[in-house]
Amino acid sequence: MLGAILVLSGPSGCGKSSLVNEILKEYHDIYFSISTTTREIREGEEEGVNYHYISKKQFEEEIEAGLFLEWAKVHDNYYGTSLKSVKKALDEGKLVIFDIDVQGHEIVKEKFNDILTSLFITTPSSEILKQRLVGRGTDSLEVIEKRLLNSRQEMQRLGEYDFLLVNDNFEETLAMFRFIVGASRMKIDKKSKDNFINTWYNT
Ligand code: 5GP
Repeated sequence: MLGAILVLSGPSGCGKSSLVNEILKEYHDIYFSISTTTREIREGEEEGVNYHYISKKQFEEEIEAGLFLEWAKVHDNYYGTSLKSVKKALDEGKLVIFDIDVQGHEIVKEKFNDILTSLFITTPSSEILKQRLVGRGTDSLEVIEKRLLNSRQEMQRLGEYDFLLVNDNFEETLAMFRFIVGASRMKIDKKSKDNFINTWYNT
């Protein structure tokens, strides 16, 4: 495996998807891991672009079949990362970006620690997050309340991440995000370092 991993976590509505969309336009050796979910498709989303949308029953069958690198229940829905496409992208030497929650980060980190960089993105305050979720107009008030509650719990785990970006101004946040993407791209696994040491001694 030659690739590297960048995990993004943070509350829904903090701007992760917009940042990733910008970066994908700029770099060609990045693979964005499209998760599978049982949640309803939102207006403006597309199958195979934002997520793969499947039923709860199908998701549970895929868990049984061992098709997920990691999966979690977030806001009463299942979300998971398929193992096969991530492995392929890593084998092709790509930087794989995951937009997953804190539970997913913990699992992926256990498996890929030496090639993984993690970034937590959030809004400047909980009030601003609420305004953005309401302003987005894609979720009912009940769903927004659940997301806000979940975000409070997620914030508690910010300390587990390498970097923090507070998305106050999109252009500034994007500029910082580019640096983090560049740095995570350069993370190399232990085996490659050992190989380099051997070559260095012997040449
Ligand atoms: P949303 O419904 O707003 O698209 O996503 C809700 C939450 O689920 C976000 O925190 C997002 O990072 C997380 N999420 C999306 N895909 C995955 C996944 O494959 N695995 C895990 N563990 N979390 C995910």
